Amino acid sequence: MSVSAWDRRIARAESLAGVSAAAAELLKFYAQIARLQKSIYEEIGRQAHLDPSLLAPYFAQLLALVRRIGPPALVEAAGELAGEDLLRTPSQEAHVFFGRALLQPYTELLAHRSGTPQGHAPSTCPFCGEKPSVGVLREEGDGGKRSLICSLCSTEWEFRRVLCPGCGEEALDKLPVYTASEFESVRVEACDTCHTYIKSVDLTRNGLAVPVVDELATIPLNLWAEESGYRKLQLNLLGM
Ligand SMILES: [Zn+2]
Ligand SMILES: [Zn+2]
Repeated sequence: MSVSAWDRRIARAESLAGVSAAAAELLKFYAQIARLQKSIYEEIGRQAHLDPSLLAPYFAQLLALVRRIGPPALVEAAGELAGEDLLRTPSQEAHVFFGRALLQPYTELLAHRSGTPQGHAPSTCPFCGEKPSVGVLREEGDGGKRSLICSLCSTEWEFRRVLCPGCGEEALDKLPVYTASEFESVRVEACDTCHTYIKSVDLTRNGLAVPVVDELATIPLNLWAEESGYRKLQLNLLGM
């Protein structure tokens, strides 16, 4: 993943924030997080040897940024992590964000340097083993080629179109696809066997989409899927 991948995410989040009032706050917050992640990616990318300790100096920056502009649950968690509220029981779910926000650029750099193994289709990332947070459809021949994007290191790998990444179900009638007219390039791909879903961004319908960002911008689809009895295969960075 090149540095410009971060620029594309930031630009897409800012542009969608201007058109989607409902998701604007979330997308503006994500854009600021992605800016910090970009600087982490660039700065530690100058090191010949990567080590997680390189991330330590950025922890305070992340806490400060979240406390300035984050959503309330994360602001509270940032206070706990800063050690100001030791009597509180830490809210583990909110804390996951801080670890992943720092690890994403680090693992993306590792994946970028190593080159991703090709030619197989596991349901978890072939580089780091995490689950995918979003799918992508690209033009290929008559149909479209599907791939999945890792929720942690952003590695993208090819995946069969009619196959559940949650349980391996491959019967077409067990794998319903749902769309909503207001989000024409994002669809919900569900599984009636394991009751999970993943959203896919259809780049054949909108070439400007940036999957990780368009996934964030379509939270109403998550609510609909969850009300319909499906559980998200993997939450995104913001825990949605
Ligand atoms: Zn990965
Ligand atoms: Zn399934």
